[in-house]
Amino acid sequence: MIFGRRKRKPISIPAKPVKEWKYTTCNYCSTGCAIELGLGEDGRIVTSRGHAGADVNRGKLCIKGLLEHELFESSGRGTVPLARDKAHLPFQPTSWDAALDATAAKIKDIQAKYGRDAFAVVSTGQLLTE
Ligand code: SF4
Repeated sequence: MIFGRRKRKPISIPAKPVKEWKYTTCNYCSTGCAIELGLGEDGRIVTSRGHAGADVNRGKLCIKGLLEHELFESSGRGTVPLARDKAHLPFQPTSWDAALDATAAKIKDIQAKYGRDAFAVVSTGQLLTE
């Protein structure tokens, strides 16, 4: 018996037709498992699987990695940068160039005022999720 259940319910992921597999890294946590994303006929990502050739996970993925392909179609997913001029104003969509220019200018302001070491980024290889 596992966690009080009398019957196991193994995870079953339906097979989907894949035209091409793309090698990448899972971005959900700092483990950085090697993963392959399967693209369907229309080029959209339809499934994911672990890559057996990487020592970090040897083909295995946790449930987040197994379902990673679903995030590409998730509602509410950010697709454009958002910015606001004042903290009390709502965020508005902006261009990547404008967002990056504003970020660079803010970093330079901080460094000019407090010194070069006043700004740092603390992260892992999975910068986008941690
Ligand atoms: S598959 Fe799971 S353990 Fe591996 S990087 Fe993704 S979230 Fe982390």
